[in-house]
Amino acid sequence: MAKMRAMVVPKRGSSLQLQERDLPAPGAHEVRLRVQACGVCHSDAVTFLGLVPGLTYPRVPGHEVIGVIDAVGPDVSGWTVGARVGVGWFGGACGDCANCRRGDTFACPNTHGPTGVSRDGGYATHMVADASALAHVPDELDPVESAPLLCAGITTFNALRHCGAGPGDLVAIHGVGGLGHLGLQFAARQGFRTVAVNRGRDKEQLARSLGAHEYIDSAAGDPAAALQALGGARAILATVTNAEAMQAIAGGLGVNGVMMVIGAVGALTVNSLDLLQKRAAVKGWYSGTSADSEDTLQFSLLNKIASMNEIYPFEKAQEAYDRMMSGKARFRVVLKMDA
Ligand SMILES: [Zn+2]
Ligand SMILES: [Zn+2]
Repeated sequence: MAKMRAMVVPKRGSSLQLQERDLPAPGAHEVRLRVQACGVCHSDAVTFLGLVPGLTYPRVPGHEVIGVIDAVGPDVSGWTVGARVGVGWFGGACGDCANCRRGDTFACPNTHGPTGVSRDGGYATHMVADASALAHVPDELDPVESAPLLCAGITTFNALRHCGAGPGDLVAIHGVGGLGHLGLQFAARQGFRTVAVNRGRDKEQLARSLGAHEYIDSAAGDPAAALQALGGARAILATVTNAEAMQAIAGGLGVNGVMMVIGAVGALTVNSLDLLQKRAAVKGWYSGTSADSEDTLQFSLLNKIASMNEIYPFEKAQEAYDRMMSGKARFRVVLKMDA
């Protein structure tokens, strides 16, 4: 029987192991991909550390996947062998449940759940995905360069286009890292007056080259006051992984301002008086569906938006993951398959 290889988390808290497995046959409504590249995301820690209930092992992480369909299961229409596709965190949707019928397909309870968490993901030569989780990937996009657009890209692009700001409005990108370096590009190209906020000045030049019109050093003073001095933010895209840092900037929202939280920091304290006086809000944002992924890829192609990546061979996935978790990568880490 034909084989595939996967980098597997064998049990909670363990390092990755290389495993050889039988090549799986796609079931109904599923396809199998030959993976070309898979991004390494901070949310992969959910799988490594067992951060959601009911996670079973062994599990293959990875939810920034670009590959080519190499087998199509029964009851799949619109997808053929040879098509280039992407799979993100969104694991698919049934189309029939109450959430799907209202257009909230991201919250469908009837699929396998997130890619690389409750079903095997892209740290592998092959993977199986639900057909409803697939995004078309334009031929012009390089799979290795573009894989991070399937999570870091869609999350920032989609949160920004739903943040309520219009062209010319002040929008702050909090954190110039894996998410933020894409958020800056998307915010500027979506027409916002874009402010980069980061600790220190060492990323200022880069932030400006990515599209930031203003730069705030959050270590040099009160970042909320600095945003207020610019008029108050219509939106803040909070990409950092530190609750105190998010709390310190929430006061920078202007009237009707919205802080879009896309960094997972656990409990977050905000000043309710400040929010109600400004009619401001703090809300979370789910990355997006496969259709949102397609929009992200098309917008990125149109506007020459690219992720800055460090590339690792598939077999060095553990090293790649450790590098990502160190916070030192500039800025995303991507696994390249040798197939
Ligand atoms: Zn991710
Ligand atoms: Zn559903």
